[in-house]
Amino acid sequence: MKSAVDWAVDSQARTEGLGDGFRRTFGGEPELWARAPGRVDLMGSHTDYNLGFVLTLPISRDTWIAARRRDDRTVRVHSMNLDAGDEFRLDAIEPVAGSRWCNYVRGVAATLAGERLALTGCDLAIHSTVPLESGLSSSAALECALATMFAALGGWSLRPERMALLCQKAENEFVGVNCGILDQYSSCLGREACALLLDCRDLSTRSVRLADGIRVVVCNTMSRRRLSGSEYAQRRAECELGAARLGVRALRDVTPQMLAARRPELPEQVARRCDFIVAESARAESLATALTVNDRQIVGRLCAESFAGARDLYEICSPAMVAMMEAMLAAPGAIGARQAGAGFGGSMVALVDAASTDAFCAAVGKAYGKAAGMVPETYPVEAAQGAEVFDKYRCS
Ligand code: ADP
Ligand code: MG
Repeated sequence: MKSAVDWAVDSQARTEGLGDGFRRTFGGEPELWARAPGRVDLMGSHTDYNLGFVLTLPISRDTWIAARRRDDRTVRVHSMNLDAGDEFRLDAIEPVAGSRWCNYVRGVAATLAGERLALTGCDLAIHSTVPLESGLSSSAALECALATMFAALGGWSLRPERMALLCQKAENEFVGVNCGILDQYSSCLGREACALLLDCRDLSTRSVRLADGIRVVVCNTMSRRRLSGSEYAQRRAECELGAARLGVRALRDVTPQMLAARRPELPEQVARRCDFIVAESARAESLATALTVNDRQIVGRLCAESFAGARDLYEICSPAMVAMMEAMLAAPGAIGARQAGAGFGGSMVALVDAASTDAFCAAVGKAYGKAAGMVPETYPVEAAQGAEVFDKYRCS
């Protein structure tokens, strides 16, 4: 099998490869194809569960599923990324202990069935070019591609907002990951050439067309801190405590003025977490404007403030992230750079002058490799369409 990196830039090779994977695993040909994108947040770390704003970019790294109906109410699934399979019956969907990825598939099926949506047995071959567990939301890409495929096989459709909420429910309740709505909304609502400004309180979105000449480059530190799950839960708890002390439902309802006046009522660490969230949510709105009008100076400043806050106030930074930040800012064409996802390692994101993209990637690879002793992955991404069924011949 060719590597995922080849397949990320060669759709035809990927179509053939996934088709081959299907034939090898199940025999015969797939009849339907679906895809859903990963995402990178351009601004708005940890603002989603505080019901604030996030500027998110559904990206051209995505998850594909090739499928064929079965008439026995059985689902058989094979992940080419993990070279692993699973099989379950639609009438008795139970979680599997010790095999997390199977629970994303089962969870989506169980959640859709719980809504009385008609599910059809099927064979599913899956392949993703979203790196797994790197903060680009391969989990939501998998869920949303699956939900899209089950809808296509069952002959029904859902509004993308509802599909996103059901996929989040599957991840929260069946897999047991307490994620916000950001990932699934990004994956279901993406529009080509646009970022999305998502208001996590009323779940409204605004498409933000990126100015020509700016390229988004994801830079993966290739490191992740083991305790990131418990750190994430701790940040959420601190934000909830801050909101409760300030007498609001969520930190979204706190203005910078209110926070400045009532800061002494908060434990010091909680106050710093609140400082970050209140400013970060405002930065998401500001970046949407700055990117539209191509004000590169403001883009750079907002990204720098976001990273400084993540490091000093929210404390989700790691030495690898600091090294990557330095490498990104020193590289040719850098306009702005910051963390992505929840932090604690994983991927970071840079906004780069499009003409310098190749030179930027080469310089980051060299500088980060030298500073951190790890070879990073750097990949330019495009804004991508949300979850959809597609015609495989489109790619040929
Ligand atoms: P992220 O969403 O940032 O990539 P998560 O830890 O939330 O990281 O989700 C990653 C998990 O999702 C993987 O460990 C795996 O269980 C599942 N997953 C995602 N994509 C695939 C895939 N193509 N094949 C199998 N499992 C996948
Ligand atoms: Mg995830």
